[in-house]
Order: sequence, then structure tokens, then C-alpha cells
Amino acid sequence: MIPFNKPYMTGGELGYIADAYGNRQLSGDGLFTRRCHEWLEQRTGCRKALLTHSCTAALEMAALLLDLQPGDEVIMPSFTFVSTANAFVLRGAVPVFVDIRPDTLNIDEALIEAAITSRTRAICVVHYAGVGCEMDAIMDIAERHGLWVVEDAAQGILSEYKGRPLGSIGHLAALSFHETKNIICGEGGALLVNDPRFVERAEIIREKGTNRSRFFRGQVDKYTWVDVGSSYLPSEILAAFLYAQLEMADAITQKRVALWNRYQAWFSGLSVRDVTAPQIPDSCTHNAHIYYLLLPDLERRSAFIAAMKERGVQSVFHYLALHSSPAGRRYGRHSGELAVTDSISERLVRMPLWLGLEEHLEHVLESAQQILSAHG
Ligand SMILES: *Cc1c(COP(=O)(O)O)cnc(C)c1O
Repeated sequence: MIPFNKPYMTGGELGYIADAYGNRQLSGDGLFTRRCHEWLEQRTGCRKALLTHSCTAALEMAALLLDLQPGDEVIMPSFTFVSTANAFVLRGAVPVFVDIRPDTLNIDEALIEAAITSRTRAICVVHYAGVGCEMDAIMDIAERHGLWVVEDAAQGILSEYKGRPLGSIGHLAALSFHETKNIICGEGGALLVNDPRFVERAEIIREKGTNRSRFFRGQVDKYTWVDVGSSYLPSEILAAFLYAQLEMADAITQKRVALWNRYQAWFSGLSVRDVTAPQIPDSCTHNAHIYYLLLPDLERRSAFIAAMKERGVQSVFHYLALHSSPAGRRYGRHSGELAVTDSISERLVRMPLWLGLEEHLEHVLESAQQILSAHG
């Protein structure tokens, strides 16, 4: 079976883990965490990068930093992973789901203003498949209405919108290093702070509500409980693993892009009725996080996944729309009809995309073509 995902190891991870072991540095914020922070700050241009134990944790930190109160509203797409919404629901805020664009599957910026009420505090955008949202329009709306912007850039490392790295545009952003993402450490993430007003409090919230970071820098002479917070930092062992990946991040991305381009050349040249390949706006350069196809309907998608499986290829679908999920109905509401979201969530199929797939790609492409053209 050709799996849908296979985590890529650079080969440098164990050496760095051995270094952390040798230094007896197990808890967080040691040498490797600092190296990861520097790498992220340098490559994204964010004011402050802070490793977390997941993107979910980074989003929770963002929700704490925005001081959301029960009943406050956060505008977001429904076509996303649950963590985008959960982080805000944990603060008692209400996710307000709006529809996505049919081309990029990102939040439809033209629908955001209609969703704004007197309770709206923030917009949380998701850069689906590592392709940037229409950030100029979104930042403009946020500025005119006095809203915060959080980028769920879980899938967006090393992608750009108009030459700016994803994660560097909103007030706050969250990255993921989960094993299913491009750059990984198993379970991990980072909060990127772009608005300098959040830097000091972000460090405090991440360190259990204490001013421990300032203490270690010698800026205060004792450390104490100063705010709410939790434990959001990962161990040095994971940071050591991650740093080996970050050092190779450009090469990993290039190889993914090469695979993605082969898929795209194949499927955009293939004229099968009602099967659509991804569309990338000129304003975006992407990191090839996901290659997907849009099939005509749910029945055709289920048949496609089953037929691919028979040919030894695992393909998968996502997302079950949040606005119609049990928790989405309980905690959120939607603004307008979410027709594109409903349609896409029944029609999207993700193809395998991992380093090492090169030697199997021909089989994957030919299998898909046979199955799709059998239906004309
Ligand atoms: C993967 C993902 C997350 C969650 O990332 P974790 O690091 O597993 O918490 C959140 N949002 C989106 C859009 C994701 O793709």
C-alpha cells in the first residue's frame, strides 16, 4: 500500500537529540529551542517566535492574548480543522463561520464584513494547503473595524503572500509541526507574535503565568505569578528534532513542490469532466502542503477512494464542515449560507504527498487517471 503520508526524517535529528541528552537539557527553552526561535524569526520576520507543544496550543495562547470574553465573536472559515474554533470556544467566544472561496478554499474575504457585529473581536484566517488568504483585503477590513487578525498558518510554513511569509501578516499566527505537516517534530507548533504589544505577555502566558523568561534574562530579580497562563513549551528533545528539520526546510519544501508540480501538470492536462485541480493565485507562492482534486460529488469521491485503495494507493478526504458538526452547532453560528463549504467537504480528495513518493508517483497518477476517465 502506498500510504497517504509518511513522515520524512532528515537524518540529523538523532545527532541533535544526542546533544540535548549529553547537555542534560530536557526541559524547554534550552539551546535548541533558541535556535528554532531564531530560525523562525529570521525566516518569517515575526517580532517573536515561541515554540509550543502544538499549533492547537499556539492558537489557545492567541485566544488568551486577545483577552476574549464570553460572547465575543471570532470570524473564521468552517472548512478547517477543529482547533481553529476550539481555541476560542475555550475562552467562551463564539466562532462565526463564513463560507470559503471556490478557487483557493480559503475564507471568502468578500463575506467577512456581513458577519461583523458589535461583539466581533477577531478574524482567524486559515491558509488552506499553504496557499495564502487574501490578506490585504482582510487586514484592511480588520483595521477599519478595529479587529485582531490571527493566522492559522498550521499548513503555511515557507509559503508567501505577495512576497510576505505566511504567519508574518496578522497580529498573531500559529504554525504546526505535527507529523502530518511539511516540517515536523511529531507534536509541536509555534506562536508567531507580529504585534510587539503582545510579546511580553506571550512569554508569560507560555510560562504558566510567571515572568520566568524575564528572570532568566536578568530583567527582574525574582520570578513570580503575574498573570493567567499554562505550560505551552515543548521539551528540548523535541526542539532538537525540530531544529534538524528546520535546517533542511528549504530542501524539503523544494522536493514537495516538485511532486506537487508533477501532480498539477498531470491533472491540469487531463480533461476529465467535472474533475478540478487546485488553483493558485498569482499573489501566492505555496509550500506544496496538500495536493487535492475536486470530484463531482460525494458518490464519485467515495468510489474514487475505494478504487484507489484497490490499486494500492491510500487517498483521504477532509474536512467535515465545522458549522454542521455537533460542537459547531452548540458553540458557533454561521453567517449566510455555506454552500461552497458544504460542496467542497463532500468533493475534495487528498492525494499522497511525501518525500520518497517519487518512485511510486507514476503508479498513483496512472491509477487516478484510469479511475477518473472510466467515468468520462
Ligand atoms: C494541523 C492543523 C492544526 C492543528 O495542529 P496541531 O499542531 O496538531 O495542534 C490546526 N489548524 C489547521 C488548519 C491544521 O491543519
